[in-house]
Amino acid sequence: MSDCIFCKIINGEIPSEKLYEDDKVLAFNDINPEAPVHFLVIPKKHIKNINEITEENSEIVSHVFKVIKKITQDLGISEDGYRVVTNIGQNGGQTVGHMHFHILGGRNLVWPPG
Ligand code: AMP
Ligand code: ZN
Repeated sequence: MSDCIFCKIINGEIPSEKLYEDDKVLAFNDINPEAPVHFLVIPKKHIKNINEITEENSEIVSHVFKVIKKITQDLGISEDGYRVVTNIGQNGGQTVGHMHFHILGGRNLVWPPG
């Protein structure tokens, strides 16, 4: 997707603070952090959101969660806890149309979110 900012981050057109990368996913710090730890994990393949998950591409979701487990352990926030959020569509507050998982941690998070 040529006009997608996260695809541009993946192909290096837009810089990012990378935390982890492999052939399937990229993790990088959110530009507008809502917590001391706030990073995003995205598939390298453009998928709009969970609505586009199918039998053929669903493997990426379990891979994303394995990567989240590794990064949060490396950052030392797994025991204290953290939150994983993926926003879908207008009511979900999705502003970037490339599936992404927010990981928020490093402080006590309130529930429910706004
Ligand atoms: P959402 O509202 O769930 O679509 O979240 C999009 C997130 O992407 C927001 O938290 C933004 O701060 C973040 N974001 C937008 N542009 C960039 C960028 N260039 N680098 C890092 N994070 C970004
Ligand atoms: Zn994209």
